[in-house]
Amino acid sequence: MHIMKFSKNSLCPCGSGKKYKDCCFKWHKINSAPDALLLMKSRFSAYAMGNAEYIIKTTHEDSPHFEKDKKAWVESIKDFSNSYFKKLEIIEFINGKKEAFVEFKAYIDEYVMHEKSRFVKEDKWYYIDGMQYEN
Ligand SMILES: [Zn+2]
Repeated sequence: MHIMKFSKNSLCPCGSGKKYKDCCFKWHKINSAPDALLLMKSRFSAYAMGNAEYIIKTTHEDSPHFEKDKKAWVESIKDFSNSYFKKLEIIEFINGKKEAFVEFKAYIDEYVMHEKSRFVKEDKWYYIDGMQYEN
């Protein structure tokens, strides 16, 4: 098991090269990000840090990943944060007014998760679903 301790002065898990306090922390504080790309990156950071509140509040209610059992959802996010979130690679960002797509590769433990995520904007941006690629 890989346990990483984060502080506000740690490098941000999203790979921006900035300190966490100057990066995803800004969005984690307000449970919202100004665009889908920043939402994607800050959700990766939130998973790495076990910030379940951020994941839950930025997942659309219509998402197949939206769990009705919040307690179990929180547990699974905290559990997932024991993984080693090595790197996030953004492949493409397709922005729009109400819908946006981010294709990425997330390097977690020995896995590479290659997905094109879809985000929708209502009062703010939300993750809704994604298409996974075989690597
Ligand atoms: Zn960040």
